[in-house]
Amino acid sequence: MKDTIKKTILMVAKYIGLFHLAKLSYRNRIRILCYHGFSLKNEEKFVPGLFIKPDIFDERMRFLKDKGYNVISLEEAFQATKSGNIEDNSVVITIDDGFYSTYALGLPVLKKYGFASTLYLTSYYFDKDCPIFTLGVNYMFWNSELDEFDLSQLGIEGLGTVKAGTEECEKARLKITATGQAYERNEDRVNLLTKLGKATEQDFDVLNKSRILNLINQAELKECVEGKMDIEIHTHRHTFPTDPILAAKEIEKNKQQINPLLEKPMSHFCYPSGVWSKEHWHILDELGIKTSTTCDNGLITPETPYHAWSRFLDSARISQIEYESELSGFTEFLRKLRGK
Ligand SMILES: [Zn+2]
Repeated sequence: MKDTIKKTILMVAKYIGLFHLAKLSYRNRIRILCYHGFSLKNEEKFVPGLFIKPDIFDERMRFLKDKGYNVISLEEAFQATKSGNIEDNSVVITIDDGFYSTYALGLPVLKKYGFASTLYLTSYYFDKDCPIFTLGVNYMFWNSELDEFDLSQLGIEGLGTVKAGTEECEKARLKITATGQAYERNEDRVNLLTKLGKATEQDFDVLNKSRILNLINQAELKECVEGKMDIEIHTHRHTFPTDPILAAKEIEKNKQQINPLLEKPMSHFCYPSGVWSKEHWHILDELGIKTSTTCDNGLITPETPYHAWSRFLDSARISQIEYESELSGFTEFLRKLRGK
């Protein structure tokens, strides 16, 4: 109900010309869009905030083209804020993590419109033939049609048979996740996922071959770069501790693995899971990072701190009218009105 009211208000605002007005008055601010994965199967139903169907993504990109938005690269946005010469209605397209679908479904759409983009690539699962472990665990439980799971075969102490959708099942899922994350070797995680696949009747090999939860490989990375996609930093293990030594290690490891595959070294950063604090800023400065993007909402001006560049997270959760409202700047106007 609340959602319907919101959409109705936005529709009215659009038709009485408020989107147009917002776009005009915020024309000098940069909009940064953020995507994660694109649905090869049913991923947008699995985690709606993380995935988007490719036809909807195509619609979103066509909207940018049709409405005269000026798609620029992240580096161009950085230079524009430094010089204070921001072209009207500039938009930056960013994609996080490096899911296989970024290459398989996102890239062809971006190429079709000739849009530059930035991929923040986390490196641990890059070029590995396996799904991201935590997502794999969640997906197997979510996609299973069984009413109960016999988890005794996983070899984790204390796990027995649990009914689907219960608190016990949730506790078991968390225990499996924590156990796998603590393993030194990735092979052990793959073994655990294979066993969980048997317990949930989700074939690990089928999931792995579908690559819905896998990242891109080296050959795909090369094609992404050739398709005007800049590769930037997203840490090695998708974590960014406030401890300066551990934080620097995460970035260095990410660079070590990815920079040799690129013509120009990475210099922009995206906080994993959008978790950030000012305590990080000196670390980022010392590492020579030019900009750092968050998952907070907001448009960019030359006054926006370089290590707190906000973005708009587009996904299956967002309707077309919400997307248009955010791009126009009308949602930003509402945020300012509410003092956010
Ligand atoms: Zn991420």
